[in-house]
Amino acid sequence: MTHANILKLEKEIRQLKNTLRAKEEELLTLKNEYNKSFNRDTENTNEIPRWAIERYSRQALLLELGSAKEIISKLMKGSVLIVGAGGLGCPAAIYLVGAGVGCIGIVDYDAVEITNLHRQPLHSEVKVGMSKVDSAAIALKQMNSNVKVIPYNLQLDSSNALSIISEYDVILDATDNAVTRYLINDACVLTKKPLVSAAALQLSGQFTVYNYPPRDSTSDDEQIENCPCYRCLFPTPAPPETMGSCSQNGVLGPVPGVMGCLQAIEAIKILLGKTTIAGYLLMVDASDWTFTKVKLRKRNPKCLICSKNATIKKLIDYEQFCNAQASDKDLDLKILSSNERIHPKAFNEEIYLKLSPTMMDSDIKATDTDDVLNNKLSKEIRSDRILIDVRSFGEFDMCNIPSFINYPIDRINFDSLAKVVKEKNVQEVYFICRRGNDSQIATKQLKDKLIHSYKTTTLPTVKDISGGLHEWSKTVDNNFPIY
Ligand SMILES: [Zn+2]
Repeated sequence: MTHANILKLEKEIRQLKNTLRAKEEELLTLKNEYNKSFNRDTENTNEIPRWAIERYSRQALLLELGSAKEIISKLMKGSVLIVGAGGLGCPAAIYLVGAGVGCIGIVDYDAVEITNLHRQPLHSEVKVGMSKVDSAAIALKQMNSNVKVIPYNLQLDSSNALSIISEYDVILDATDNAVTRYLINDACVLTKKPLVSAAALQLSGQFTVYNYPPRDSTSDDEQIENCPCYRCLFPTPAPPETMGSCSQNGVLGPVPGVMGCLQAIEAIKILLGKTTIAGYLLMVDASDWTFTKVKLRKRNPKCLICSKNATIKKLIDYEQFCNAQASDKDLDLKILSSNERIHPKAFNEEIYLKLSPTMMDSDIKATDTDDVLNNKLSKEIRSDRILIDVRSFGEFDMCNIPSFINYPIDRINFDSLAKVVKEKNVQEVYFICRRGNDSQIATKQLKDKLIHSYKTTTLPTVKDISGGLHEWSKTVDNNFPIY
């Protein structure tokens, strides 16, 4: 089969899918109209429609959650806002829509990427490039046409958070960054909404409910004091560089899956007025399956947003407050001037192709102490030109360019490296990383050290490969994976 045949078939499938989607939309509209007229008929009698009893009978039989009719009607009247249509938001939405929660809002401004699919089961290969909220809404409407799904294709920020959040009964934080965490927390406190929060990274996750019951609730004071908000526990944001991200540290798909399901359970319990995990934090470690439930501190009497003496009365600038951006996307840093950088194409033609490629059969290990690592590197540097890949050991292991040695940026001792460069009379050093940010930092740091030790003599060439391996893949080697 030729490539043209594949393209032709793909085009045909796309057209068929569009036709199918249009038909499904038509069916949904008809079903919604039918259910609306059905609900109108039963609204005044307080009766649960027959289809709802049939559909939700299994969960309605849980006596500890209430009577069957109570469970069905409370969920059907309930609404949940899910902020983030990713690894946490997808599984949470699937179960909330399955449970028949009346209205689900989903906020996300990203588009579906191929790297999302291993952990975000509402999205699929054909939806790569589509907005995540549209992709999620299509999948969710197919699951349960009785649920109203409202997609918000936007970035939640201080200008829109209050008006959106105030429309819902329960808020799920299914995001992955500190900026949005503080924003959602403060907005939930100001609008007196319960916040179901979770996080997942690598093989572990965390989960709790904040601000429930909210401060002016009718519940007794002690219960309110025992259930802090996020800001009570973390009054000041952690430095951005200490926050891990899935794109840099990785995550096993089912781990956020588990955490998102836990969020769905708590959202359902809140809608049914049942006791939740508020006041406690559950920590899950999938490497040895420890589930640890720890008691949280009480509300902070000096909390700036939820205490009686709160000074924050409206939403603030959270990017400024956290000194970070509201996304785990990589920024394009501009640390170096253009003559301190080399484009992958130029690097390939002027430097790389002229090398006799040597596989660097490195025996460097993640467990090496810094001294051992530096000694091994010193031995590996045998030519007057060295190529250093500053990504993590795991990333280098996944894919790399032959002849580069792997020296992760957080393990580089720039004093030692500068010493080796001088001792071995190295003339050229090139740094590469995934996107061209860490390589700039490494270049700058090494140059700063070399300037001190060289003083009068000419400095060796130290450059970063601009745009990193992403740009390498686009302009030099299309087979190199972009991740
Ligand atoms: Zn607080």
